[in-house]
Amino acid sequence: MTSDLAHPERLGVAALRRALAARELSSAELVKHLLARITAHHELGAFLHVDAERALAAAQAADARRARGDAAPLLGVPIAHKDVFVTADAPTTAGSKMLAGYASPFDATVVARLADAGAISLGKLNCDEFAMGSANENSAYGAAHNPWDRARVPGGSSGGSAAAVAARLVPAATGTDTGGSIRQPAAFSGITGIKPTYGVCSRYGIIAFASSLDQAGVLARSAEDCALLLSAMSGHDPRDATSAQRPPQDYAAALQAKPADAARPLQGLRVGLPREFFPDGLAPDVAAAVRAALAELQRLGASLIDVSLPRTELSIPVYYIIAPAEASSNLSRYDGVRYGHRTARYDDLLDLYRNTRAEGFGAEVKRRIMIGTYVLSHGYYDAYYLQAQKLRRMIADDFQRCFGDCAVIAGPVAPSVAWKLGEQDDPVKAYLADIFTLPASLAGLPGMSVPAGSGEHGMPVGLQLIGNYFDEARLLGVAHALQQATDWHVAPPPGF
Ligand code: GLN
Repeated sequence: MTSDLAHPERLGVAALRRALAARELSSAELVKHLLARITAHHELGAFLHVDAERALAAAQAADARRARGDAAPLLGVPIAHKDVFVTADAPTTAGSKMLAGYASPFDATVVARLADAGAISLGKLNCDEFAMGSANENSAYGAAHNPWDRARVPGGSSGGSAAAVAARLVPAATGTDTGGSIRQPAAFSGITGIKPTYGVCSRYGIIAFASSLDQAGVLARSAEDCALLLSAMSGHDPRDATSAQRPPQDYAAALQAKPADAARPLQGLRVGLPREFFPDGLAPDVAAAVRAALAELQRLGASLIDVSLPRTELSIPVYYIIAPAEASSNLSRYDGVRYGHRTARYDDLLDLYRNTRAEGFGAEVKRRIMIGTYVLSHGYYDAYYLQAQKLRRMIADDFQRCFGDCAVIAGPVAPSVAWKLGEQDDPVKAYLADIFTLPASLAGLPGMSVPAGSGEHGMPVGLQLIGNYFDEARLLGVAHALQQATDWHVAPPPGF
């Protein structure tokens, strides 16, 4: 314990909770230590905003609460938020110039709930502009770097969250996943991530990208740590009409249940492997790492069965019609009149709109607004948008057929390890790399990425686990069992 206390950045959320409760460490000491690391690793580009003074004051207040006997579940635990969650105490940019200098008058529900649970926010994390991207290279505030190899991307769009957690700048961070933005950066950066069922976490106060897909979740170093944050941030919110009406869940407590056979905790679990998730084009290093993790699940008692998700390939065109369609509508609010950037050059109202949006949005956001406007326009709506909606339903039905045979679906998160910064210059190629994360997003199902060793160049590989609706506890349980038996999730990037 002593050596870990000298390096508290090595402790995850669960271990920190114990150390803080036992007063082996104060939140103020911990926060000071992590703030110094954030400064020292500034070049990773993980944070867009850090308010050291406020974080330290909050940590001291948490220590004072503890001295008075308060035992809030995350009391004094440092975290950070993807910069698409609005925060009253810190600026919110969504990685866009459009929102430079924007100050929200309120906190997103997820932010408020984590604060109520006692967590201390150290700041706001870099992300792709309006969460559109797979590499964090679409941020108007510069790229974030992968701590495993700074010449490579950390994944996206929650790239800052992934880089910060992997580099041990914070033990856990929030993220959002519309088409893979928690699972893919978690996989690329060697950490654990969970995107819950659509509706489990409130979208109130999340800058909207594609409202029927957007869902908040956690990036942390273990399934147990994800469970601790998810318990605090999830639950019904009357301010989000799509929020699920369910009683609060204690995902972390569920992990403590003792299996009948300790050596085979996954005994009886049927894990479905969709054959479409193991195509010929899958990089051999990714396939090998995923197969090794699957063999481990088998050793722990699970049986592996073949299943099929026949419309996996179609999820790319379906997603890249529906998500831009919704984005083009959501982003119409950035008009230079209400809030956000306003151009200095205009003669009339149309000019104001045009110049504001031309200056405020980056290339990828403009591309999606154009695609979205096109597929929703008269004459194309039936041909594209309506067809995509029909296929979306069929994709969701395919999953339900699989869940008749298995409880969990497993496969890779991404077809390759993290690529080099600047390497991916064709947007369509980047879209194609989302193939394994999009199906669960379109169906609204929960998904996780769990570290599964490394592939080429020593870069991390993620095992994806997909569950049926509201089966987060089972997914976390499978990941936890794997992490009790293996140490892929413990290895830090070299030098961290
Ligand atoms: N990579 C996908 C996209 O660019 C997913 C993004 C996300 O989940 N926010 O849209």
